[in-house]
Amino acid sequence: MKRMLDTYAIIGAGPSGLAMARNFQKHKIPYIGFESHSSVGGLWDINNKHSSVYKSAHLISSKKKTEFTEYPMKDNVADYPSHTELCSYFNDFADHFKLKENFNFNSLVKKVKKNEDDSWIVETENEKYHVAGIVIANGNLSEPNIPSFDGNFSGELIHSKEYKDPQIFKNKRVLVIGAGNSGCDIVVDAVHHSKSVDISVRRGYHFVPKYIMGKPADTVGGMIKLPFKLKRFIDSKILSLFTGNPENFGFPKADHKLYESHPIVNSLILHYIGHGDIRVKKGIDRFEDKYVYFKDNTKKEYDIILLATGFKLHYPFIDKKHLNLVGYTPKLFMNIFPPTQNLFFIGLLEALGIGWQGRYEQGALIAKTINAKNKNVGVYKDFLETQKSDLDLSGGINYLKLDRMAYYVNKDVYLKKLEEFKRSLDF
Ligand SMILES: Cc1cc2nc3c(=O)[nH]c(=O)nc-3n(C[C@H](O)[C@H](O)[C@H](O)COP(=O)(O)OP(=O)(O)OC[C@H]3O[C@@H](n4cnc5c(N)ncnc54)[C@H](O)[C@@H]3O)c2cc1C
Repeated sequence: MKRMLDTYAIIGAGPSGLAMARNFQKHKIPYIGFESHSSVGGLWDINNKHSSVYKSAHLISSKKKTEFTEYPMKDNVADYPSHTELCSYFNDFADHFKLKENFNFNSLVKKVKKNEDDSWIVETENEKYHVAGIVIANGNLSEPNIPSFDGNFSGELIHSKEYKDPQIFKNKRVLVIGAGNSGCDIVVDAVHHSKSVDISVRRGYHFVPKYIMGKPADTVGGMIKLPFKLKRFIDSKILSLFTGNPENFGFPKADHKLYESHPIVNSLILHYIGHGDIRVKKGIDRFEDKYVYFKDNTKKEYDIILLATGFKLHYPFIDKKHLNLVGYTPKLFMNIFPPTQNLFFIGLLEALGIGWQGRYEQGALIAKTINAKNKNVGVYKDFLETQKSDLDLSGGINYLKLDRMAYYVNKDVYLKKLEEFKRSLDF
């Protein structure tokens, strides 16, 4: 057992793990990282077994709204970079700040255990480490969510996690189930390879094009801070000018207002539907042989079904009692702090526009908390008390009641609170 009692362990070297490492470095807190893959970048490294990106994957938020502020992406990087550009970016970031030196690569964390004195043990395949605490940065988009369907499909059935290359669709009749951001990317990929391609959807969505008036959509507006309802009204009007009504393209009417769920950022899907290259089908009733029966009593034969049905949170290495689960989601103060001591989560949040800088700010709060605790100052005790309160981070937005939305926050409210708590820990 390696004794490192002043050191914090980070599980994962994706964007969140790196954001944590950089903050530990800045705040002079010793850390050791564990990454199951051979390098940094998390799911943006297509060769990482954990990765859910595919050859055509690009950011859906623009680079300026996503990058780490202290390390902007180069001018020659596209507005919406590819996974390859992003993987290089994270490698450059880690090299620039010399973060890799403190990571153990090819090192899967199998188990973490809390001791009576609130220190922790980290177990990898070959070694045990006795550390001060743990930061979980293992990502949210790796463990496939596979819904159960009535009947059996005798063709090929895969989850988007396994999908990398559109060649698998060559000359096949393709059905993509689910119209989230990955589902919409993949159905567009299939257009130029498949014999035919359909997308099955249960609910309606709001579609945002990647560019509005020649600028990345998330960089348009925002100069004047408007009340949320007025902003939503104006944004909905702008969207209806650019994308029209998705119902005209065969999608169901959205059962939620703009911003109550993550919008679909895709400029191509409506284009291909309009050209008859993609057809929109209703939700699934059942499978039989190679036939899919839809909720509107139609049926169609397919060769391959791709489930773009999302991901589940997954923490196989820690006792559930530390996760403070509500349903499937850890209930954490500020999406970071469970009631268990010396345990922190980073990256367990979704919010429109939060980017990697949002994860970075989480790392800053974690580091400040640890420093205040180590100095045993009163501000830390006050912050522990504050953690017992129930914060509303929704900004008054009525988010859809779905598992994937259970850790969704309003970016502005969340970042404001982070700043407030960071300041409260100054001593
Ligand atoms: C197609 C696609 C498009 C996206 N577009 C955007 C976008 O435009 N903007 C945006 O902000 N986000 C986007 N995302 C979300 C994406 O999740 C984040 O950008 C980011 O990758 C999250 O970083 P992370 O470090 O939290 O998790 P990950 O990138 O998933 O990294 C987690 C790391 O932990 C490692 N790990 C896991 N378990 C263990 C273990 N037990 N032991 C050791 N190591 C372990 C993994 O190998 C991995 O390297 C997109 C995601 C996808 C799939």
